Amino acid sequence: MLQPLIDFVRDHYRTNAFIPLHAPVFSGNEKAYVGETIDSTFVSSVGAFVDRFEQDMAAYTGSPRAVATVNGTAALHVALRLVGVGPGDYVITQPLTFVATCNAIAYCGAMPIFVDVDRHTLGLSPTALATWLEAHAYRDDNGDCRRREDDGAIRACLPMHTFGHPADLDGLMRVCRDWGLPLVEDAAESLGSTYYGRHTGTIGDLGTLSFNGNKVITTGGGGMLLADQALGERAKHLTTTAKQPHTYEYVHDELGYNYRLPNLNAALGCAQLEQLDAFIIEKRQLAADYAACLAGSELAFVTEPEGCRSNYWLNAVICPDRSQRDQLLKTTNEQGIMTRPIWQLMNRLTMYFNAPAGELPNALWLEARVVNLPSGIRAAQGAVDA
Ligand SMILES: *Cc1c(COP(=O)(O)O)cnc(C)c1O
Repeated sequence: MLQPLIDFVRDHYRTNAFIPLHAPVFSGNEKAYVGETIDSTFVSSVGAFVDRFEQDMAAYTGSPRAVATVNGTAALHVALRLVGVGPGDYVITQPLTFVATCNAIAYCGAMPIFVDVDRHTLGLSPTALATWLEAHAYRDDNGDCRRREDDGAIRACLPMHTFGHPADLDGLMRVCRDWGLPLVEDAAESLGSTYYGRHTGTIGDLGTLSFNGNKVITTGGGGMLLADQALGERAKHLTTTAKQPHTYEYVHDELGYNYRLPNLNAALGCAQLEQLDAFIIEKRQLAADYAACLAGSELAFVTEPEGCRSNYWLNAVICPDRSQRDQLLKTTNEQGIMTRPIWQLMNRLTMYFNAPAGELPNALWLEARVVNLPSGIRAAQGAVDA
């Protein structure tokens, strides 16, 4: 089975050279816009491209407000602060995620609680969430959700849309409403993905995006908060050193952060965003072609959940077992085709080893089996190797 897959990938990318998992492509106005910032001298924290990138992203996602940040982790940190996460608190999240999700919780002085994922979404499971809460949490006289074991406040629920596939948001929203929990969506991987027609990151109380170099579009480094008007105002304030507008005085009215996205990076983002729809069309076609190539094989291709339109940021297969996973990783990487296992579960990392966790059968099952396949956009020139 592996040889047809390898042949398919080589044929798709039309090269005998090394094929990375996801390389950026700059085939639009990137040079022109970045050049404009240099010519104008506005390369730093103030500039027209920051405003434009925020407006374009709000329009694209249908979010009332979008606030650009220096990276996706910073956006997550501020989102959690905005829903009230502070020292000694808990935030419920999934163990199957990139470490940034958990680090943002820790930056608030809070601790993650790990709850299992669903196999068909790879995202936080509403059933596992409800089960964990019923067994381990209660609501106090103020309606706040608390952990029974130590009465610590559980301040938020933070699902992640794995590889661009939306989590079961209706189910999660229902459980969060029952328990008085704000829902923050880590939509770092799912720019362009929709859940029953609505853009991921705009459905919970707050959402965050990432424009790191390996994401569906990149600003070099960057991120975005998606929020309503009121939280958007607060986000802008906190990410710009909490400075009050004044013609010349420096007045900072709370502890803020220098989390602004530089204009230089926003310029790159504006040019990339112009190409996002075309990127997603190509990515969805690649996913369909992978699915056809793997049909009838022992590798199960991961497809978008019902009612969702996924950006297919990273294509993934589920291997029958760990040894076949290892064989796939070894064979492809030896042949210059980059593949990667899914992340180690977060509760294995030393920082989060002692965090509370529910039963994690699906996360453990997926951890042993999931492999990402090359998923990048083809460079426009389409060079053909001899
Ligand atoms: C990429 C990513 C982030 C944010 O990463 P930055 O590099 O800080 O932009 C957060 N969560 C997940 C799941 C990610 O994949």
